[in-house]
Amino acid sequence: MTTSDSVPELPRVNPIRLSELPLRPELVGQEPYGAPQLDVPVCLNVNENPYPPSAAVRRDMAKAVSEVAGQLNRYPDREALDLRADLARYVGFGVGVDQVWAANGSNEVMIEILEAFAGPGRTVMTFTPTYSMYPEYARNTHSEYVTAERNAWFGIDAPAAIEAINAAGADVVLLTTPNNPTGTAVPVAVIEEICRGTEAMIVVDEAYQEFADTPADSAIALLPKYGRLIVVRTLSKAFALAGGRVGYAVAAPAVIDALRIVRLPYHLSATTQAVARTALAHAPEMLERVDELRATRAAMSEWLRLHGLEVVDSQSNFVLFGRFADRHGVFQGLLDRGVLVREVGPEGYLRVCAGTPEQTDAFQDALLEVLASARVLGHDDPAATAPTTQESTS
Ligand SMILES: *Cc1c(COP(=O)(O)O)cnc(C)c1O
Repeated sequence: MTTSDSVPELPRVNPIRLSELPLRPELVGQEPYGAPQLDVPVCLNVNENPYPPSAAVRRDMAKAVSEVAGQLNRYPDREALDLRADLARYVGFGVGVDQVWAANGSNEVMIEILEAFAGPGRTVMTFTPTYSMYPEYARNTHSEYVTAERNAWFGIDAPAAIEAINAAGADVVLLTTPNNPTGTAVPVAVIEEICRGTEAMIVVDEAYQEFADTPADSAIALLPKYGRLIVVRTLSKAFALAGGRVGYAVAAPAVIDALRIVRLPYHLSATTQAVARTALAHAPEMLERVDELRATRAAMSEWLRLHGLEVVDSQSNFVLFGRFADRHGVFQGLLDRGVLVREVGPEGYLRVCAGTPEQTDAFQDALLEVLASARVLGHDDPAATAPTTQESTS
């Protein structure tokens, strides 16, 4: 007889339940949010660039990582100065290194902005339908979160926006252009009017800017005139580096100094900095499929309209289309055929992003089958004609 017969064996893992932990009250019952990561042949659900970095770029990345590996016992450059200088060169507009900040995805940049300028007793405002991560950033930074509706075309009108911002007493305003999940753009002139009409920090999320018809038409041009403006961008979408986790902000040097106060020490790893710098050194190559993807988005919009569907005018690499009485049925029908899209946005709509020609063909073939197989079109269904607001992660 061994003692293990008499002594109850301890469980390998502590069985405490989430409901027994002293979780912050506002987190109780909440789920980690995000798009499903399913193993499906055709993934058109999170707006990635479908083309991986080329073999030559991959070789250079491996070399760069191997070089920094020799110093991984040391902390990385806390200020990421070389990377920020590369980003400044890439952005153009005469922007200097002191006007650029980089972090682990624009997600982290946004959190830092709210840590610096929002927080307890302060209010973050945005215009829906829009990116579903915004309320989470607000929650995580203990900020109030308020929304106003976009107009009927999912755009933003300056006078109404200014009134809503001032009425809410918003401290930080998030304007997304091109917007996710609608793909609609907010003209720079409208952003300028909003900057002029409020005292709030205005954050313009340009995650999809490179896919716009005129990418140079950016809010970055307004920075010399408006000290409270911040433009946030990412290497995750057009730049084909979602796995590298690099986003950046462009703003006045004083704004960058504010972000430097709240950032975690050594937040951006040496390997991330090396990979991002290599990607930026190959910028034309990393971006070489953007024109093709823009054309694919346009052709896909046209094709969907030809098949009797409603399509929101998109300036990004994805389109919101519908409207379906049973959008979940269409989503599931596509998934059953190996095509993953996103069930997101106003009632009745689905979102699909531009893929390779093969992926786009697979999507279109699958959609035709689904439409032929079920009564899913809901033009006459009142339930499908009353858009309500739902939002979208990545
Ligand atoms: C995808 C996306 C981002 C990018 O987030 P990263 O953290 O940089 O990957 C930011 N904003 C919007 C609106 C997006 O759709």
